[in-house]
Amino acid sequence: MRLLVTGGAGYVGSHLVWEAVDAGHDVVVLDDLSTGHAEVLPDIELVVANLLDRDRIHAGVKRLKPDAVLHFAAKSLVGESMRRPDLYFRNNVVGSMNLLDAMREADVGRFVFSSTAAVYGEAETCPIEETSTLAPINPYGTSKKMVEELLAAYADAGWVNSVALRYFNAAGADAKGRTGEDHDPETHLIPIALMAAAGSGRRLKLFGTDYPTRDGTCVRDYVHVSDLADAHLRAVNWLEDGAGAQRINLGSSEGYTVREVLTTAGDVVGTPLQFDEVERRAGDPAVLVASHARAKAVLGWSPERDLRTILETAWRWHSRASSGHAASTTTT
Ligand code: UDP
Repeated sequence: MRLLVTGGAGYVGSHLVWEAVDAGHDVVVLDDLSTGHAEVLPDIELVVANLLDRDRIHAGVKRLKPDAVLHFAAKSLVGESMRRPDLYFRNNVVGSMNLLDAMREADVGRFVFSSTAAVYGEAETCPIEETSTLAPINPYGTSKKMVEELLAAYADAGWVNSVALRYFNAAGADAKGRTGEDHDPETHLIPIALMAAAGSGRRLKLFGTDYPTRDGTCVRDYVHVSDLADAHLRAVNWLEDGAGAQRINLGSSEGYTVREVLTTAGDVVGTPLQFDEVERRAGDPAVLVASHARAKAVLGWSPERDLRTILETAWRWHSRASSGHAASTTTT
C-alpha cells in the first residue's frame, strides 16, 4: 500500500515509518520538521510542509493519492497547551481539517489518527475503556477530542473511515536503533531517567510520593512505541472493510508505579538511579491504565514488549544519543 504519514519524522511517527517500510509498504512522509528529525528516516520521499499550508496539503495529497493517511503531526506538550491554547487548536484541529478535506477532494478514504489517553482527563474508571467519559483537562486533550468528533461527522457524511488510536504512555525505541525518543524539551519519565543515567547532568525528580497507590507514586501504562506502530498497520488493514469512525485504546492493561519504573531502569542501566523526591506535578492523575480488550478484539493486537524491553531499547538509544546523536540533531 502507499501510505502517507504526517509527522513521520517524530517519535511515534518515525517508528511507524520503519515498521511500514519493513513490511514492504510504499511510504511518503509529510512533516514540517518543527520538532521531527529527518535523519532518523529511511531513504523515502519526505515532503517538508506544514498542515496549515492548505494549498500545499491539497496539492500533495492529490499528487500522492495514498491508499491511507496516518496522521501523527501535532503539537503534543500538555504544559505548552495551557500557555498557548491557540497553537493547539490551530495546529491540531485546523491542521487535521485541512488534511481531511484534502483527502475528501482526492477521494482518499482511510485515516488513522494519533489520539491520546489525555481525552479521558481524570478517568473515573480503571482500567479505562473506550466508552469511559471524555473530559480532557487541558487544551492538548481537548484538541484531540475535537478531531475525534470531526472524524465521527466525516464518517457519518460518508467521506472518511477512520480509527483514532488513543495512546497511553508511549516509550522505548526501535530495537535496531534506527530511531528513538528525542524531544526538546523532554518531559517524560523514561527518557529523563535514562538521560540522567547516561550523564545528561539533569537531576532526576520523582514527582509526588503521597498518591493513593501501592507505593505512593503514580501508576501509568507504558507501551512500547514499536507495538504502537504495529497497531497502526493493523488498523490500516482493518479499515479496508469500511468502519465508520472508531476509537481504540492502545495500552497494556497493566500499570507500573514511578518507583517500579525507576527500579527496573536501574537494573537495566546496571546501577541504581539517583533521584530526588519532590512535590506532585500539577495535573498528574494518580492512575492511568487502559483496557486493551477492544484493541485485542478488533485488531488482534496486544503489546508484545514488556517494561524491561521498553527500558532496554530506550537505554540503548539514549546511551548512544549521549555520545553523538543528540548533538548532531537539527531541529529546524
Ligand atoms: N515523572 C516524574 N519525573 C519526571 C517526569 C515524570 O516523576 O521527570 C512522573 C510523572 O509525574 C508521572 C509519570 O512519571 O507520574 C509519567 O509521566 P510522563 O511525563 O512520562 O507521562 P504522562 O503520564 O504525564 O503522560
